[in-house]
Amino acid sequence: MSDPLDLLETADRRLARGVLAHDRRSLAKAITLLESTREDHRARAAALLAALLPRAGGAFRLGVSGSPGAGKSTFIETLGLYLLGLGHRVAVLAVDPTSAISGGSILGDKTRMERLSREGGAFIRPSPSGGLLGGVAHGTREAMLVCEAAGHDVVIVETVGVGQSETAVAGMTDCFALVALPNAGDDLQAIKRGIVELVDVVAVNKCDIDPAAARVAATQIENALAMLRPHEQGWVAPVVAVSALKPQGIDEFWRQCLRFRATLEASGALAAKRRRQALDWMAAIVDHELHARFHAHPAVKREMGALREKVAEGAMTPAAAAAALLAAASD
Ligand code: GDP
Repeated sequence: MSDPLDLLETADRRLARGVLAHDRRSLAKAITLLESTREDHRARAAALLAALLPRAGGAFRLGVSGSPGAGKSTFIETLGLYLLGLGHRVAVLAVDPTSAISGGSILGDKTRMERLSREGGAFIRPSPSGGLLGGVAHGTREAMLVCEAAGHDVVIVETVGVGQSETAVAGMTDCFALVALPNAGDDLQAIKRGIVELVDVVAVNKCDIDPAAARVAATQIENALAMLRPHEQGWVAPVVAVSALKPQGIDEFWRQCLRFRATLEASGALAAKRRRQALDWMAAIVDHELHARFHAHPAVKREMGALREKVAEGAMTPAAAAAALLAAASD
């Protein structure tokens, strides 16, 4: 069988070989190409990704979420350094909904994780800004595959505890962790709000400040979790008290992540989960693209304003206006 790399143009073949040889600059350039919205870049990016895909899939994919200030980036840096110490190669990516909306970013700050970024075995990439096919999370998912092809066997995807980004990250990772704070009020709220349906492991961070409060918070969260129907069979999300700063409890956190993945692997649920994620992703890209094409259609653009006004004034039903727009889009 021919090597899929042979199908690439010379420059891109060199890029792909660089990625496979674990060259960080090639990895960064490959991800930049994947993030490009230029039409000619899109075709090259698709070919590059197709060539690298057979080499992807080998990582432990870990999602990390939590409110701003919970200590996510400190935690990921500490965890990353710990994992490098175990001989892993770690990539850190981000899905930041704020970067798509405002161009600014909660997560994208370049000075974050400075110690980790200096390590040869680590690769850190801030969140892509908006405009990508399939939304911001799409770029991150593709970047994850390229990081795997570049030999990173742990990929950590970070997101903030707002909006749909958590669902997106849970939908691209094997294990989804929440970084919570010992003043459990807010985090219990978050848990009730539905994150809990996604969460596989909880880290109660900053336990160095008040160890007793951290223990109380951990028990409260554990009790809240125990009352819920497990989303993965046979698994109740464990709660680990950690300090990202000291550090403490990082090894126990990682042990729980490994235990979770081993549980999924043993039942065949991990392979099923990844298959389901790939299919969901395909559907999400189609939805996103249809939406974009609809709004870009000249007839829709022409008629949208007047129809919106009619609906707002009560002169037309929303259903009739929607039908008119959909009919216009299919011309
Ligand atoms: P993020 O917004 O969730 O990424 O939070 P950061 O990692 O930026 O941390 C927010 C603040 O909490 C920073 O001042 C950190 O130094 C501090 N912090 C993070 N982890 C710990 C911890 O384990 N113990 C203590 N005492 N402070 C921490």
